[in-house]
Order: sequence, then structure tokens, then C-alpha cells
Amino acid sequence: MSDEATISDLLHENRTFPPPPDVAREANVSGDAFAAADADRLGFWAQAAERLSWETRWERVLDWDPPFAHWFPGGRLNVAYNCVDRHVEVGHGDRVALRWEGEPGDARTLTYLGLRNEVCQAANALLELGVRAGDRVAIYLPMIPEMMVAMLACARIGAPHTVVFGGFSAEALRTRIRDCDAHVVITADGGYRRGAASALKANVDAAVRDCPDVRHVVVVRRTGQEIAWNTELDVWWHDLVDRQSSEHTPDFFESGHPLYILYTSGTTGKPKGILHTTGGYLTYVAWTHWAVFDLKPETDIYWCSADVGWVTGHSYIVYGPLANGATSVMYEGTPDTPHQGRWWELVEKYRVSILYTAPTAIRTAMKWGADIPRRFDLSSLRVLGTVGEPINPEAWMWYREHIGGQRCPIVDTWWQTETGGILITPLPGVHTTKPGSAIRPLPGISAEIYNDDGHLLPRKDAAGYLVLTEPWPGMMRTIWGDDERYRETYWSRFPGVYFAGDGAKWDTDGDIWLLGRVDDVMNVSGHRISTIEVESALVSHPGVAEAAVVGSPDPTTGQAIVAFVIPRGRPETDGQTFARELREHVTREIGPIAKPKQLLVVAELPKTRSGKIMRRLLRDVASNRELGDVTTLTDSSVMDLIKEKLPNAP
Ligand code: ATP
Ligand code: MG
Repeated sequence: MSDEATISDLLHENRTFPPPPDVAREANVSGDAFAAADADRLGFWAQAAERLSWETRWERVLDWDPPFAHWFPGGRLNVAYNCVDRHVEVGHGDRVALRWEGEPGDARTLTYLGLRNEVCQAANALLELGVRAGDRVAIYLPMIPEMMVAMLACARIGAPHTVVFGGFSAEALRTRIRDCDAHVVITADGGYRRGAASALKANVDAAVRDCPDVRHVVVVRRTGQEIAWNTELDVWWHDLVDRQSSEHTPDFFESGHPLYILYTSGTTGKPKGILHTTGGYLTYVAWTHWAVFDLKPETDIYWCSADVGWVTGHSYIVYGPLANGATSVMYEGTPDTPHQGRWWELVEKYRVSILYTAPTAIRTAMKWGADIPRRFDLSSLRVLGTVGEPINPEAWMWYREHIGGQRCPIVDTWWQTETGGILITPLPGVHTTKPGSAIRPLPGISAEIYNDDGHLLPRKDAAGYLVLTEPWPGMMRTIWGDDERYRETYWSRFPGVYFAGDGAKWDTDGDIWLLGRVDDVMNVSGHRISTIEVESALVSHPGVAEAAVVGSPDPTTGQAIVAFVIPRGRPETDGQTFARELREHVTREIGPIAKPKQLLVVAELPKTRSGKIMRRLLRDVASNRELGDVTTLTDSSVMDLIKEKLPNAP
């Protein structure tokens, strides 16, 4: 691929892993689903919608007024009824919905019946506060069961929630409350992270000072820490909710009724308020959760380690698993508290069979070393998943070997806040997997790759821009309050198709590899080089745990590659020798064109609070520019440390 307009294909990964025969034999979904969806895409989704209970059946599968999709118009349903009540009605009230563990080691178990009762009480409480269908409610909670209860209570009364990740600042909370005009905020005094109580309520106090329309702040008592109390606004959750009736008759809402607004991670800039609706979204997360993880609700113990504050938590901790009647594990704290084996201890304790996590967590576990998971019994695991960033093949192999015991299929799931659910992934019983590849679009999903001019590329050995050419049930409805930005952001780069903002390639077998964000693609001497391929070459060196690369302006080559590397253990050689060795390693692995001009060994990389590498900030330092928006960064001191390493940074 020498064409200037396409992304180079440098990485050659040849390892393959066919589906384990026992998994394939018992799998929920077989290869036939692809043929069925190809023959009748809308019919396929209509059948998926049968997984839900509809009070009124829909009139049509889809009204498509590009770029606005209305799935299952005329259908009426209640999301909370689908996630909770109906399981109780068919006799599964005693089934465990949630096994929750707090960071200090306290635990709670909620059955479907128990969850139903609490959701009804919380719904009655919101009604008492004057919340009505269509009103927005902000939720700023730690990872405690009330998070799930609060979201479902909102859904039950048709009040869209906006969950703001508990690690965000008062400022981030304020802008989100104001953007969607929420009048009620649900929070907690604090939550436990890294062995200490974080202060959530104080951030809410600071945020609502500039939100005159907020009328009530409902506070869950989690830590018992000292907090300020504003008698005009504040009410304790236990005072308000516990005295409510545990009966509530749900109303049913039209399929296009808003379910929630969620802001994107902010990896590329200012977060966008993504609006998801009811019937299509719930159909999609229920079907994909069942299909992609091969969920057996009677026997599996499912754990998604994401925070509910991200879309992964919305779709695959709350709505998908509950719609399917699954038993889930939820953990409040950080993976290294009180020790670096905490996650693996939880897998052993709860006999987790499906684990869904992110590349950042796997790379961190790799950095801490395989000796840690080895101390625990992980034999209950049968399917592993990852999401959030491209996964370096070495991290995938490590996950397979040290967590999955070489036996668990890994589903590398590509999707976005905007897409509502997983779109590209292998299916555990169907596909041969390859470390680093997201393999195929799901049945009923029309993914293609375009070149720079908007031409469809053949599905073989070609790289470019990932697009979706047909609507799907989980897709966003719009950007909250800004249809024009919705059109402009996703539908204008290539008219008529959804542009995801990510680069991708088809390999010679017709499998898809995500190449990272298009904004991050580097241009070196006319070659467009994806960040992930160079990073994966670096991570394939045994001395490297994590790597990020960016382009910086260069008078001769246009851009030069600058690499930032976190070592695995202590480098055996001095810094300069190590850097030289790594640059040569990249040359050997993928070619001289990809050799970083500059390589810096660092202790940390700038990441969003959901753990994604923020290359735009590295690009700013490498290019000698002022840093862009840092509000979604986990720890801004990381950038100061990195700047010190660069001789001529601002
Ligand atoms: P913003 O849109 O505000 O910049 P963001 O894109 O990080 O933030 P999310 O919706 O959380 O917000 O992330 C979606 C993005 O994450 C995808 O567009 C893609 O770049 C990346 N991603 C997610 N899963 C995968 C995966 N399995 N492989 C490769 N990339 C992935
Ligand atoms: Mg994005």
C-alpha cells in the first residue's frame, strides 16, 4: 500500500486461535446468524427485539430519516420492567442479579426480587421529588449498588439519566449538569478508592453552586465521612427512599423515548452528550451481551470491570446483563487495593466465568507481573473480553496465557459511546481469533472501510477509514440539543455513512484490525502510519509494558515519530542503550519507516479517566505547543513529568 491517501499496513501477526470445540458446540450463536442477517437485516433485528417484553408491539422495525434512526416505532416498553420485574414474574426472583464487593471488603448480594423492590422504592422517591417523564437526573456515585438502582429508577419513570463518572471534578460535573439541564442530582458522601474515602458530595456542592435549576441533591451514605449539608437542597437517600412503597406500576414509553445522555471520554477533545433511546438500544445491548459473551444466564457469573460512568458500564454492567437475567459481580475500588492481586482474588472468590475489561488494565497487570495472577484459581473463567482501545498483540497473548489459562476465547470488542453496543468482535463459538484483531462485524452490522476519497475498499488487504453504511438498533439518536453537531461530527466526512473516526484495515483473510484514531495517524515521508502498529512493535519487546507514539513536525520527513515507553520491570541497560535497542527493535519488527526518531522512557502516560492514552497531549508536548483541554485527564502531573524529559518543550 504505497498510495499516499491510505494508511500503511506494517504489522504482521500470524498467530491464530480457532474456537475451542466445546465452546463452539454449546454456543448461543453459530455462523448461521450471519447468513440470516445478510438475507434480511431488518428481520434479523426484529427477531432480536423478541428478547424484550413489549407492552405494545412496534408497527415497523425502522423509520430511517438519515441520519436519524427511530427503531421499532410505535412499540411501547419499560426498560426497568424488562431488566428486573419480568424476571421475577417468571420465577427468577431468587436469582442473584448482583454480587457487589466494596473496596474495604464489605459485600452485598441483590436478588432480582430485592433489586425490583429497591428500584420501585427509588422510583417512588423520584416521583415524590417531582421528577416526571422526560426530566433529566444527574447521577454522580461511586461503584455501589445504588448506582444500578438509581439508573433503573430513572428508566422506570422515563426520566433520562446522565451518569457522571465519580472521578470527575466539580467543574466537569457542573458542565454536564448544565448541558443537559438536570434538576436533581443523586450522589454519595464519598466512595472508597485506593484505601481512602474520596469526597463526592463536596464536588457536588461546588458544582451546584452554579446550577440554579438544581432543586434536590439526594445523598447515599457510603463512607460516613464529614460532609457539608444544605438543608434547602440535600436529602439523605435512606430518609427518602427507605420509607417508600416497594410497589410501583410502570408506565410504558414509546420506543424512541430517551433513556440516557452520556458524555464521551474526551480523548480527542470536548466531550459530546450522546443521547440513547429505549427500544432499539435495549434490544441491541441485550442481544449483543448474550451473543458476544455467549451468556448462559443460569450458570455464568459475569464481571465487567468498567466503571458504570462509561458507556461500557451502561450497556454491559447495567442494561444488557439485567435484560438477560444475568448474575453479575461489581467491585467498588481499584485493582491494587489492598494488594495487586485484588481482581484475581475476586475472580476466584465469586467463580467469575466471563470477564470483560480494558487493554489498560491488562497492560498494568503485565507490568506488575504474571506471578500475581498465578497465585489465584482462575479456572472458572471461560470467556474473556476487552474494550476501549486497540489491544497490542503482546497484551492479548498475556491475557490469554496468564488469565485465560490458554483455554478461554478472547473477544476484542470494538465500539463507541455513540454506537451504544459492540459492533465489531469475534464470536466465541464461531471465529478463529488473532491477537490484536477485532475480526468481524456482528451479524446485521454493515461495517466497511473507505479510502480518503470516500471509495469503498475491497474487504481484503486494504486500510483506511472505518464507516457504518446502515443504521443499527443501538445507535445514538443525536447529540443532546445539537442535531447539527451530530450531523457534522459523524455524517459529513463521507456523506450518507456514519464515520467512526477510527482507522482500520482488512487483512488478507478479510478480518478487521483497528488502527487507532484517524486524528492520531502519523505522516512520515508521505507514509501514513498508524500509532497502534508502532506501539505494538514496541510492546512486543520484553522490556516494554506500554507505549504511545505521536508525530511531531520534522523539516525533512514532514512528521517524525516520537515514542514514549513505560518499561516492564527495570531496564537491564542504561537509558540510551535501551532506547537505541527499542528503536532497532521497531525497525526489525515492522521496518525502518516506523523507527521512532526520538524515544523517551517515562513512568506514566497521560490517560483519560477511563484509562485511554491521550495522544493529543503527547503530540502537543512533542510539537512544542501549549497543551489542549486537560479536563478529562486522570492526573495532570503526568504531563509535567513528561515535559521535563523533553529538552525543548514549553
Ligand atoms: P471522544 O470521542 O470524546 O474523543 P472516546 O472516543 O475515547 O472520546 P469512547 O466512546 O469511550 O470515547 O471510546 C470509543 C473509542 O475507543 C473508539 O472510537 C476507538 O477509538 C476506541 N476503541 C474502543 N474499543 C476498541 C477496540 N476494541 N479496538 C480499538 N479501539 C477501540
Ligand atoms: Mg470518540
